[in-house]
Amino acid sequence: MRRIGVLTSGGDAPGMNAAVRAVVRKAIYHGLEVVGFRRGYHGLVYGEYSFMQLGSVADIIHRGGTVLLTARAPEFLEPEGRQKALGIIRESGIDALVVIGGDGSFRGAMALEKAGFPAVGIPGTIDNDIDRTDYSVGFDTAVNNATDAINKVRDTATSHERVYVMEVMGRTAGHIALAAGLAGGAESILVPEVPFDLDEVCERLQRGVKRGKLHSIILVAEGAASGLKVAEEIKERTEMDTRVTILGHLQRGGTPTAFDRMLASRLGAAAVDLLLSGCHGQMVGFVDNTVKSTTFSEALAKQKPFPEDLYRLATILAI
Ligand code: ATP
Repeated sequence: MRRIGVLTSGGDAPGMNAAVRAVVRKAIYHGLEVVGFRRGYHGLVYGEYSFMQLGSVADIIHRGGTVLLTARAPEFLEPEGRQKALGIIRESGIDALVVIGGDGSFRGAMALEKAGFPAVGIPGTIDNDIDRTDYSVGFDTAVNNATDAINKVRDTATSHERVYVMEVMGRTAGHIALAAGLAGGAESILVPEVPFDLDEVCERLQRGVKRGKLHSIILVAEGAASGLKVAEEIKERTEMDTRVTILGHLQRGGTPTAFDRMLASRLGAAAVDLLLSGCHGQMVGFVDNTVKSTTFSEALAKQKPFPEDLYRLATILAI
């Protein structure tokens, strides 16, 4: 192995820069050359790449987003697009590719593997919806951003004695909602993994008011329901003063937490080690506080289990 490529793909996640930095520096440390592809698989298809040096990843560990840029690249879903990408791969002279992204990006990496080109993956998505890793890069920062928003909304909710419905990201998963809801002390957390009953949510709210609660926060995962709809329903059923905050992309921005930077650094270095040891077709993950690799097919085989014990705990503590 002489030269490797690296790209970030899918939705951006804070900490992706720290992962790119780790890949570039660990590879150079071992005497490899590194090529950075821009805009995910788009860069592979259209030949947007350049060599990366130690200095090209200086001063980025603390920055959100990704200096390599990211994109959804529909061309890569088509056989012709992938053929073009294989041509660019040959032109660039790389022997393997490190893909930093979510499950879709790993499917792309599997397509390269199927075509005979070695690839490894680093889970980078705020949604934390990839199985076989306890955390994906970006999740911790998103949870901290959402928790910070809950703290702020709590101040105004208390002052006006209101119910606030806060909608958070996560696509089809409720991991961000659960973690931020537990950390932020939300009264109810609605996630796609657990069926919910709005009458029960309303009863909870009314019980809280009876015992003197000045405010309530209902956290809704975007995959569970629309925050606007939930707020309308609550208002209709309880006649309580209800407001909605949709956090949206605020959750994805800002400086990555120390946890995300450390995770990204460890996984980036592990991805290079994996390639140097001759392994590929795998994702590096973080399981029980240890870096562990698993095949793409195992990682993508099933939905990541939802921590129902934590969900029950959050419900008990918000009694
Ligand atoms: P996030 O979880 O943040 O949305 P993601 O990696 O799941 O990230 P996707 O948009 O699903 O984001 O995938 C990113 C890119 O990966 C796609 O735009 C496409 O180029 C490539 N890709 C996705 N699925 C496949 C597939 N089945 N075959 C080949 N390439 C794929």
